Amino acid sequence: MPTEATTPNEATLCARAPMPAESSSRPLVPSIDLSVVFCPADLDHVDALSDGKAAGFIYARDGHPNAAQLALKMARLEGAEAGVICASGMGAIASVFLTLLSQGDHVLLAKGTYGKTTALVTRQLPRWGINHDFFDASDAASLGQGLKPKTRLVFVETVSNPLLRVADIDTLAKLSREAGIPLAVDNTFAPLICRPIEHGATLVIHSATKMIGGHSDLTLGVLVGPGELIEPTKVLASTLGQTGNPFESWLALRGLATLSVRMERASRNALELARRFEKHGKVDRTFYPGLESHPEFAIASKLLKGGFGAMVTIDLGTRERAARLIRGLKGIPFAPSLGDVQTTLSHPATTSHRGQDAQQLAAQGMSEGMIRISVGLEEIEDLWGEFLVGLEN
Ligand SMILES: *Cc1c(COP(=O)(O)O)cnc(C)c1O
Repeated sequence: MPTEATTPNEATLCARAPMPAESSSRPLVPSIDLSVVFCPADLDHVDALSDGKAAGFIYARDGHPNAAQLALKMARLEGAEAGVICASGMGAIASVFLTLLSQGDHVLLAKGTYGKTTALVTRQLPRWGINHDFFDASDAASLGQGLKPKTRLVFVETVSNPLLRVADIDTLAKLSREAGIPLAVDNTFAPLICRPIEHGATLVIHSATKMIGGHSDLTLGVLVGPGELIEPTKVLASTLGQTGNPFESWLALRGLATLSVRMERASRNALELARRFEKHGKVDRTFYPGLESHPEFAIASKLLKGGFGAMVTIDLGTRERAARLIRGLKGIPFAPSLGDVQTTLSHPATTSHRGQDAQQLAAQGMSEGMIRISVGLEEIEDLWGEFLVGLEN
């Protein structure tokens, strides 16, 4: 017997999505929108959505509410026009390179850039006929020397890893602008404390996996900049399947809520630890942009506001001594990432710079005795007490 349209059979009832719950009030915090697809009202609506004449979404890989909320917030925080959320920091970085560069083009990459970014530029991009040279981001003159007629992008990090060298963004931006080349800045180590666009940068990238997420429970990347560059990057990121998902975008929004207090506390702890390490007899060298002994202390003091960041590197001289400290720090985990609420340790020689011998490390100013500390929100005296014990090991 045919059923009336108003009383569908159970199978039909089960299969069909419910109407959104009616509410004349709005939720205080964002909902997680997991829908992969959004339903246009009719064909004209598809046209309007596709042509950007109506606001909204069609297919989640191209855009969804949680990514849009996160992109908008990040763009505002960085003083940018627009943003796009990618599946990881590397997704955002790869999308920038592959959008701005074509066969025969040349990119200038700062020495000491994150290992996977360096691998992308030195091992992958040459397969597409894209060439590169390195320059020293703390020495602006070396940028001028590296420029070629086909240079189409300059890429630097605000603060490098693990030496924590600081880029002279103002001067690099001026030189790039004069040459008509966009300057992309990976600002992963310095969210909120540095706003590269105010210093003349064109594009800003974050691995939101780190400080922005803040809890080591999401992998996501952020890119912000002028709309005319973000739009084609969005298309490329979607084409390569590099856009971020709703749940992690939502988690990152939640992380952002406390970013300012986390950065403030972590930076304060880091400065205090760095000062104490510098005076400790068992630490050969301490690297921290907030120490007067740091080679870019003057640049860092102008570039960074409200703190010098959460990262501190110490050099204990040998791998054996680094290993002993890692083993001796019972409450501070060896976890080769960064930006968590708790303090974590990394050993660059066996992780980010794995595969390089002592000589190759030394050529970059590094050693097997280096430990990079991502300082968290613990009580400073608890942290120091544990390091004191660990250093006696
Ligand atoms: C971790 C990191 C990246 C890569 O980010 P993922 O989210 O791991 O892809 C890029 N740059 C810097 C400086 C990083 O620390």
